[in-house]
Amino acid sequence: MLSSAHSVDQGPIIPRSAAEVNWKQALASAFRDWHELLDYLQLLPQQLDFSIKAEQQFNLRVTRHYAAQIRKADPQDPLLRQIAPLSEELQQVPGFSHNPVGDLESVESSGLLHKYHGRVLLMISSACAIHCRYCFRRHFPYHEHRYNEERIQQSLNTIKADNSITEVILSGGDPLLLSDSSLQELLQKLAQITQLKRIRIHSRIPVVLPERMSDTLADMLASTRLQAVLVIHCNHPHELSTVNRQRLLHYRQRNITLLNQSVLLKGVNDRVDTLAQLSEQLFDCHVMPYYLHALDKVSGAAHFDSQPADIARLYAGLQTRLPGYLVPKLVKEIAGEASKSLYIT
Ligand code: SF4
Repeated sequence: MLSSAHSVDQGPIIPRSAAEVNWKQALASAFRDWHELLDYLQLLPQQLDFSIKAEQQFNLRVTRHYAAQIRKADPQDPLLRQIAPLSEELQQVPGFSHNPVGDLESVESSGLLHKYHGRVLLMISSACAIHCRYCFRRHFPYHEHRYNEERIQQSLNTIKADNSITEVILSGGDPLLLSDSSLQELLQKLAQITQLKRIRIHSRIPVVLPERMSDTLADMLASTRLQAVLVIHCNHPHELSTVNRQRLLHYRQRNITLLNQSVLLKGVNDRVDTLAQLSEQLFDCHVMPYYLHALDKVSGAAHFDSQPADIARLYAGLQTRLPGYLVPKLVKEIAGEASKSLYIT
């Protein structure tokens, strides 16, 4: 389980910039108390079926920025639904498990995941700025794979020794919760591995904590010899505020490739209009819609699952609405497969 008890990496003793102090303060001010969040959203406790037990299993964490995008006094708000610990999570549903995509079988003790040819994934953070109730890693034992020097060195040695690896994906948790100095150090070490071509970062931070999208971070990604690809995670057009858009445009201007992946979530974004609007708005900020993931069947998230026939109808509708380049690939991850699979109904 992702735990707010995991501290954000402080990095080596290099002075923090004002921008870094700013995003760490924004992170520290995230909502962690359900009643405080309800007050802020002008909702009454009885309007949502909150469960203490669900919250204990995967605690609440919502940045102020994300909370500000939730409509006030609307218990059905699609952004609220993504972060609310509700009693629906306690249902035991056949087919839903703690390890839905086989990460536990693929991850090495150093935090390196090598599932697919040519690329490896490094889990460098156990913390997130927001806790998404549908997260496929919500039960992952992060405490067994903590980021530390020794583990990173072990991973770097493994990468160096395998010439077929040309791309490293930084993941977590959220890799952008690493301090600037730690991230810089890691990027430098990766750039020294000659066969590597690309560095890819998977992060929900550009959507939920725009304070972290500093010029320093943009400089870092723009100046490494590796081609930088930032894959953001945005599920709904309401998640793209003016400030998010400005920061994304700035990153694009620095020549950083921007892609988006979304998760198809019942009651959140399972409508053609919503997904079409999301693709249009992403493209306005020069972010290419990349993947639309069918829900990974993780315990606690069954209430977000859609029927295959509904998914097929929805996707067909999206294809008729948008030009092909704005239609994200509909995929699902199957444990043990050599790549993501196209979702076929
Ligand atoms: S979906 Fe991403 S940001 Fe959300 S809890 Fe999971 S790893 Fe963290």
